[in-house]
Amino acid sequence: MKTVMIEEMSWSDFGEAMSSNDLVIVPVGSIEEHGMHNPLGTDMLIARAVAKDVGEKVGAPVAPVMPIGNARNLMGFPGTAHIDPEILRQVMVQVCEAFIRAGAKRFLFINGHGGNVTALRFVANDLYEKYGVISTNSEWWTVLPHIADIPCNDHGGHYETSMMMAVNEKIVDMSKAKTLPRKQLTDKLEWEEGLKFAGASVPIPIPLDKLTPQGNYGAPAEKANKALGEKMYSAYVDFCVGLAQELRKLVV
Ligand SMILES: [Zn+2]
Repeated sequence: MKTVMIEEMSWSDFGEAMSSNDLVIVPVGSIEEHGMHNPLGTDMLIARAVAKDVGEKVGAPVAPVMPIGNARNLMGFPGTAHIDPEILRQVMVQVCEAFIRAGAKRFLFINGHGGNVTALRFVANDLYEKYGVISTNSEWWTVLPHIADIPCNDHGGHYETSMMMAVNEKIVDMSKAKTLPRKQLTDKLEWEEGLKFAGASVPIPIPLDKLTPQGNYGAPAEKANKALGEKMYSAYVDFCVGLAQELRKLVV
């Protein structure tokens, strides 16, 4: 395969690729603030890079990245874009239907944004119910705590910034990276990585710009570094390669 990126293939190259393969990798991201030091495209750039590497390692075509996701609570920051999860669900189902017509029977969504998870689970249900197609979504921050003991407890902080540096450190400005302390909202409600009561998550939708003026939160951004990011990145790519291989074997 010359390129695994569908956007770089001719229709006949893609048709040929699908004659001996039924898996398509689909990166999904977001355009949203990630602190003053990270690019707005952090989620889509990480997802696209991982998807490309996984596609090359397993010989599966990679769909164009879906750049916009569900990011309503971040819209107080300039440049953040949002589409409702219902719309994201419909768009992703229709995108996948195009590849199903070309022979796809399995999808691996490499998702870079937490706000997309619910919509992607609906997409997987829709595709299975309508077409018997097998698909799943994967997020690096839920995988790495299990496989590499890395907590990934931040937005634009220590871990996400490190991942971004592994993808493209030139567009990360560490001189602007800073982290504010935990914010106490009431006697017992506090906010750091989301709202917490007695240590448990309580998802009250408060626009993020009301909680932090800079946008990143959780583990300190100042500690981010490319070496950690590269370790996280390669561990996650290996995980996704293994997952893709298992998806190919799965018969439901
Ligand atoms: Zn992100």
